[in-house]
Amino acid sequence: MTKWVYTFGDGTAEGTADMRDLLGGKGANLAEMCNLGLPVPPGLTITTEACNWYLGNARAYPDELAEQVNTALAHIGKVAGRDFADAKRPLLLSVRSGARASMPGMMDTVLNLGLNDESVLALAEGVGDERFAYDSYRRFIQMYSDVVMGLDHEVFEEILEDEKARFGHELDTELTADEWKQVIARYKSVIEEELGQAFPQDPQQQLWGAIGAVFSSWTNARAVTYRQLHDIPSGWGTAVNVQAMVFGNLGDGSATGVAFTRNPSTGENTLYGEFLVNAQGEDVVAGIRTPQNITEAARIEAGSDKPSLEKLMPDAFSEFLGICNRLENHYKDMQDLEFTIENGKLWMLQTRAGKRTARAGLRIAVDLAEAGMITKQEAIGRIDPASLDQLLHPTIDPSVSRDVIGSGLPASPGAATGEIVFTPDEAVEKSEAGKKVILVRVETSPEDIHGMHAAQGIVTSRGGMTSHAAVVARGMGKPCVSGAGNIRVDIRRKLLLTESGPLKEGEIITVDGSSGQVLRGSVPMLHPELSGDFGRLMEWADGSRRMKVRTNAETPADANVARKFGAEGIGLCRTEHMFFEDDRIVAMREMILAGDEEGRRTALAQLLPMQRADFVELFEIMKGLPVTIRLLDPPLHEFLPKTDEEIAEVAEAMKVEEELLRQRLEALHEFNPMLGHRGCRLAVSYPEIAEMQARAIFEAAVEAGAKTGEHVVPEIMIPLVGMMTELEYVKKHIEKVANDIMEEAGQKIDYLIGTMIELPRAAIRADVIAEAAEFFSFGTNDLTQTTFGISRDDASSFLSTYQKKGIIERDPFISLDIAGVGQLIRMAAEKGRAGRPDIKLGICGEHGGDPTSIHFCEELALDYVSCSPFRVPIARLAAAQAALKGEDA
Ligand code: PEP
Ligand code: MG
Repeated sequence: MTKWVYTFGDGTAEGTADMRDLLGGKGANLAEMCNLGLPVPPGLTITTEACNWYLGNARAYPDELAEQVNTALAHIGKVAGRDFADAKRPLLLSVRSGARASMPGMMDTVLNLGLNDESVLALAEGVGDERFAYDSYRRFIQMYSDVVMGLDHEVFEEILEDEKARFGHELDTELTADEWKQVIARYKSVIEEELGQAFPQDPQQQLWGAIGAVFSSWTNARAVTYRQLHDIPSGWGTAVNVQAMVFGNLGDGSATGVAFTRNPSTGENTLYGEFLVNAQGEDVVAGIRTPQNITEAARIEAGSDKPSLEKLMPDAFSEFLGICNRLENHYKDMQDLEFTIENGKLWMLQTRAGKRTARAGLRIAVDLAEAGMITKQEAIGRIDPASLDQLLHPTIDPSVSRDVIGSGLPASPGAATGEIVFTPDEAVEKSEAGKKVILVRVETSPEDIHGMHAAQGIVTSRGGMTSHAAVVARGMGKPCVSGAGNIRVDIRRKLLLTESGPLKEGEIITVDGSSGQVLRGSVPMLHPELSGDFGRLMEWADGSRRMKVRTNAETPADANVARKFGAEGIGLCRTEHMFFEDDRIVAMREMILAGDEEGRRTALAQLLPMQRADFVELFEIMKGLPVTIRLLDPPLHEFLPKTDEEIAEVAEAMKVEEELLRQRLEALHEFNPMLGHRGCRLAVSYPEIAEMQARAIFEAAVEAGAKTGEHVVPEIMIPLVGMMTELEYVKKHIEKVANDIMEEAGQKIDYLIGTMIELPRAAIRADVIAEAAEFFSFGTNDLTQTTFGISRDDASSFLSTYQKKGIIERDPFISLDIAGVGQLIRMAAEKGRAGRPDIKLGICGEHGGDPTSIHFCEELALDYVSCSPFRVPIARLAAAQAALKGEDA
C-alpha cells in the first residue's frame, strides 16, 4: 500500500529533512524540527506524489488517502487534546502548500479550518473571547470561499466596508462580536446567491475541499509563471501540510513573526526579524501593519519606538534565540523561520534555508567556512553562480549629491534607473519596447511578478523587509525600496506624490536598494568592489577549478573589465566588430565594393594599420595570456550602406556612379545570409582579406612582444569551417604571411591556427579537420542554429511559445541542448582528440557563460570556456562547482 500521509508532533515525526522530494520543503523541515524536539504544532503532510496522482487522475484522490488522513487526524487530535469531529472541543487546522522548492505566496493556504456555526461557540468559550472567535470564523469563510470555492475576495471586502460604515467604525478591530455575526450572516448569504450553495458546515467536507484546492494551486497561473522563472519542473507537485492551529491573535500575550538567523541583505551574523503582536501569520508578510523588530539592537538601529520582542516577551524571546542557534547549527546554514506565540507559549511553524541576496550569500558561505562549520568546497557549492550577477552591477557613486524624493527600507541592494510605471503590465510593455522602467506600487502581490521581472527596480510605499516586494526582489536580484512612507502612489491619476511635488508616469527616477532611497533623475554609478568575501570565495573557486576561463572581447574596454573579473585570456575576438567605426567603415565598404583584387588590396592596406593597432592594444592588456582572434565572419553586405543617404555618401567617397554602386549592392544580396557567403567562405573567395588580418595579427604580436617583453603566441581562428579542405586552403595563406613577417622581422613567431566547430559537418568530420587544426573552439550559437535549423535571430518569437507549451524546458540558445547539440560536441571532442591528441578545446558561444552548459564542458574535459566579460566570475565559480562535482562522482 502506498504511504501518502506522514505525521509529526509531540517530539517525533515519520519524516526527516532529507525527504523533501516527497514531503516538500516545509513538510520535511517540520518533521525535522519535531525530531529535534522543538515545539511544533502537531500535523500531517500529504505527499507530493499524492498531488501528482490527484492532478493526473481528473482531480480524484487515491483510494487509501482518506483512511490515512483520518488516522493521522486522530493522532493529531490526541497530541493536541482535541478532536476534529468534536464541535464542543474543536481541533482547528491550517492547510498549507509546500513544494520541494520554496515558492513564496504562489500557492494557496487556508487557516482556521474546522470552524462552523457550532464550533465557533466552543472556540469562543474555550479562549474566553467571543469577538476573537467570530473574527476567526469570518476570516475562515473569506479565505475558504476565495481559495476553495472561487469567490472573489473583493465581494467580502465590499460587505465589510459597508458594514463598518453602517456601524460607524473605521478599523476591523473595532467590530464587536455581535457585529461580526451580522457580517458573517451577510457573507453566507452572498455565497448562496453567487454560488448557489451554502458555505460548508461539515469539517470533513471543508478539509477535502481545502486539500484539493492546495493541490490544484500547483497549476495556477502565478505558480506556473514562478516555476518558469525559476526553472522548477512542473512534475514536482506540492505537498499539503495540515496542522493544528495555534493563534498569534489571542490578545497582547500573543504574537506572530518571521526571522532570519542572519541578515538576509548583508549576511551579517545577527538575528534579524519582525513580528506583530496580536496577529495571524499572513498579517506580517502582507505588509499591511508595519511590524516591530525582534531584537533590541535592531530596534535601536532602526530608530523604532515600538518595543522589541526581546523587551516585550523576554521568555519567549530567549527560547526562540536558542532555537535559532540550534537550527542554524543543525542545518549549517542561515535559516528563515516562522513562529507564533500563543498566550506566551512559543510555537515553531517553519524553518528553511533563507533566501538571501548574493552579497549575503557570499558572506554567509565565507563566514560559515571560516568558522569551520562547512568546508571551503561546500562554501563554493552554496553559491548559485548566476546570483553573482547581482554583485557585478553598478551602485550609486557616493560622491554625487542626491536629490532624494522618498525613502523607505533597503529591501534589496543595488541601484537602477528607469522611467516610472505604475502597473506590472505597463512595466512589461515598456521593457519590451526597450525602455528601462521602475515599478512603483503601494505594495506588490504575486499577481505582479511579471512586471517585477520586467522592471529594473521596485519601489513600494507600504510593507516591511519581509513584504512580498522585498522577498521577491531579493530573489530576483533587483534593487527594491519597500515601505517608503513619505511617498504616495496615486494609481488612478498615475502620479507619484512626493514631498517635493508630484512625478508623472515616464519620469526618470533611481532606486537605491542599498540605502532605501528613491532619487529624482539618473545618477552616476560605480562599478562593484571585487575584493572581500567575493575575492575570497573566487580564490577558493579558482583553487578547485580545472578549466580555464577566457572572455569574448574585442574592445580594450571589454578586455580590461574581463581581466578585472579574472579572465585568463581572450577566447574569441570577433574582428568584424572592429570595422564599424566611422573611419574604418568607409575603407571597409571600399574594399567590399571594389571590382577586383587590386581594388580590394588597396582598401585593405588602409585597414591594416588600424587592425594592427587594435591587436597591439589587446595583446598588451592580455599580456602573458592567450588571445584567440577570429578572422572576418559575417556576410559582407552587413557592412554596406542601406539608406539612400548612405549610398550617396559612399558613391561620392568611392568616386563611382550611384547607379553602379546600387548594381553591386544588388549583386551582393543573399536570400539566406546566415547560410550564405560568410565565415571561411569569404577567405576562400578573397584570401587577401585573411592575409591582411593575419599580417595585422603577426605584426602586432611582434610589436606587443617588444613593448611588454612578454612573448605573444597568437591563436588564429577560422570560422564556419565545414570541410578540412576549406581550413587547409585558408591556413596556407596565413602560413605564408607568417613566414614573410618572420623574415621581415628577423624573428620567430609562435602561433596556433585552429577552427570553430559550428556546423554539424565539422563535428562529424572533426577527426579529419583536427589534422589541420591545432585547436577547436565550439561556436555553439551557430552550432545550435545549424543543428536545430532554427535561425538564431528569429528564434525568440516562437521559442517562448515552445517553452510555455512544455515542448522545450529551456531556450537552447541560452542553455546548451545537451541531448542534441551536446552530443555533436561530445563526438567532435572525441574525434578531435583522436585526430590530434594534444588538440586544445574550448567553447566561445553564449553557452560558455551558462552554468549548466559549463558543467557539460567539464564533463567533456574541455580546456577552457570563453564568455562575455560580466559573466567571467559566474563561469569561474560554475567551472569550480563542475570540477568538484566531478570529484564526488
Ligand atoms: C558562435 O557561433 O557560437 C560564435 C561564438 O560566433 P558568433 O556568435 O560570432 O557567430
Ligand atoms: Mg558563429
